[in-house]
Amino acid sequence: MPKLKIAIIFNIFHFSTIIYINFVKMYYWAKVYIFISFLLGGYQLSIAQQRKCGYDNYYQNILKEYPEIVEKEIALQNELKNNNQRYAQSEGIIRIPVVIHVLYNTESQNISDEQIKSQISALNRDYRALNTDKLSSNHQFYDRIGDTEIEFCIATEDPWGQITTGIERKYVSKSSFSYSGNLNDADENYIKKSNKGGLDAWDTDKYLNIWIANFTDGTLGFASFPNDNAGIKDGIVIHYRVFGTIGNLLPDYNKGRTTTHEIGHWLGLKHIWGNGGNCNSDDGISDTPKQYDATYGCPSGIYDDECSPSTSGRMYQNFMDYTDDACMALFTKKQAEYVRNVLNSSRSSFLNNNIPCDFISKVTNNTLFKNIKVFPNPATNYLYIDQLPSSKEPYRIALYNELGQAVFTTTTNDYNTEIEVSELRKGVYYVEIVNGEHHYNQTVLVLH
Ligand SMILES: [Zn+2]
Repeated sequence: MPKLKIAIIFNIFHFSTIIYINFVKMYYWAKVYIFISFLLGGYQLSIAQQRKCGYDNYYQNILKEYPEIVEKEIALQNELKNNNQRYAQSEGIIRIPVVIHVLYNTESQNISDEQIKSQISALNRDYRALNTDKLSSNHQFYDRIGDTEIEFCIATEDPWGQITTGIERKYVSKSSFSYSGNLNDADENYIKKSNKGGLDAWDTDKYLNIWIANFTDGTLGFASFPNDNAGIKDGIVIHYRVFGTIGNLLPDYNKGRTTTHEIGHWLGLKHIWGNGGNCNSDDGISDTPKQYDATYGCPSGIYDDECSPSTSGRMYQNFMDYTDDACMALFTKKQAEYVRNVLNSSRSSFLNNNIPCDFISKVTNNTLFKNIKVFPNPATNYLYIDQLPSSKEPYRIALYNELGQAVFTTTTNDYNTEIEVSELRKGVYYVEIVNGEHHYNQTVLVLH
């Protein structure tokens, strides 16, 4: 019996030793695998796993250089809390002309015009709250959804008065970039300066400059923000595989929301968790709940954290969080007011900016609008829009002049609409009809 006992004990010991050795081996090989993956460029995989925006490092660095930025931010936030006078100053849609600078080292990095236009459509969808993945009407945050009344269009005239597609392309010798958030980041200088290898900005007071490049450090995008004295580096930079809604896109970032997010920073919005790491930190916007830190992936249902216990939870659907594209869905009403305030103060050069622009870059739906009639063309006194199909959602109808300024807007459920044009200057105008994500555009001539 004693012998047997010893044998059993030995066997148990031996068995657990094997498990232990195997575990150590597995751990060792897992480490080797991770290291080899890293060497082979497997680090790029992390791009697909977790969103990373350059804002936080940049903000900390800019604060050291220009600490007065915080005062300006707080002043604007207080103004918003106390009254909305500035917001009321510029009613109606504000259009922002965009120029896109594509820097490519390989053909796949040289993204197509169609991919670029799909991003402009996505911006107009998100900034006008026209996204079909909008929160449902019984959602706890539904009433907070905001329409910024900001739209984006591709510039058709360059700063030197020449006709342009609004898209510049340049081969660069660097196959990939990284971004540190430092004010004198070498790769950022390369991207934004032609004498370093990249492409110069167009007048940053009149154009929103967007650079497209390849990043292998996990960066999806980064932005300058109001009052940061970025000068010729003002604008946003986006990874070529997260720009637009078509093309060779990373699956988690294929709805154009990285650009929606970065332009949010460019217009002064902070991450929804503020600077993070505690519940005192806030984004300065009153209708976004407090949040401890970034939300990743794609949660569902109510997601409480220690900053918002027993409330409606985190607003992880906000464009200024870090969730996957498919899970983002809104700016709030106060975020919308805040960006309008920014456009009425530190970025006021974009109000009534006269850069001609191609705003016929939205998704058109010919099935919905197949019977529509816009007549007469040319028009003298009245323009008639006839045979709008019945729809639960109202139609938003607008008439724009050549400079992209709205000269007429209405919202209607009627089958037909008339627009008086007798007071308008003669020239080319654009009719735009929007219903949800469906858009219809037509050029009309006004003659007297
Ligand atoms: Zn960000």
